[in-house]
Amino acid sequence: MGKILEFQQVRYSYHSMNGEVPALEDVSFHVNEKEFLVIVGPSGCGKSTLLDLCFGLLRPESGLITGDTESIGYMLQKDHLFDWRTIEKNILLGLEIQHTLTPETRAYATELLKKYGLYDFRKKHPMELSGGMRQRAALIRTLVTKPHLLLLDEPFSALDYQTRLRVADDIGSIIRQEEKSAILVTHDLSEAISMGDRILILSSRPSRVVRTITLDFDPALSSIARRETDTFKYYFSELWKEMNQLAH
Ligand code: ADP
Ligand code: MG
Repeated sequence: MGKILEFQQVRYSYHSMNGEVPALEDVSFHVNEKEFLVIVGPSGCGKSTLLDLCFGLLRPESGLITGDTESIGYMLQKDHLFDWRTIEKNILLGLEIQHTLTPETRAYATELLKKYGLYDFRKKHPMELSGGMRQRAALIRTLVTKPHLLLLDEPFSALDYQTRLRVADDIGSIIRQEEKSAILVTHDLSEAISMGDRILILSSRPSRVVRTITLDFDPALSSIARRETDTFKYYFSELWKEMNQLAH
């Protein structure tokens, strides 16, 4: 399995009027092709910074980021759908911005809308959709540009608990079905275990990777079904211990 992205001893600090804020101290990790990597860590430890570095919005102060960095889709906490545009027009927005809206790419967008049950909603506006449907639309908007790697920054945190479980399951299964690689950032340990192939634990700021945990679940299990297993409970207690040590 090839690596799609790799960080080698990446360091990053913010510089502001009040001085230097070291965010990432020395971060090394990789993401494999078609792998779902989850990153957890205390609030403010530099998770969003790490994704901004992946996407090329920030440049490392030192260290190296290598891989398929041209083909990345970024999905943020808020769905960032434009309320005055229909779902279809929201989904085509990325292609318009990239100047790659052609009959072929438009047909691919329609295919995804149909495949993931949004075709009948294409003329509706985001406000007319449920939180889950909006998140699905935001994912499809990211997928139409055919990224190899998806970055997801706490994408479910605005949803209530019940919806969150369903939507996480839904989004996770679409990403697997489309055979994408993904990096999901979350502070929800259960979400991390239910969705990932591997979990990377970051320390408090300035962050380092303190541990990685490879998750071994039956691939046929949905993320909701994973939550019912004893393996899930085992991973949860491992993560919990690790996170508690970081807090002290
Ligand atoms: P996380 O996503 O893990 O909560 P962030 O990556 O957003 O953390 O931020 C890491 C640290 O960098 C935090 O202490 C935050 O306050 C600081 N930080 C983030 N953005 C900036 C900025 N633009 N200028 C200065 N400090 C920042
Ligand atoms: Mg963040």
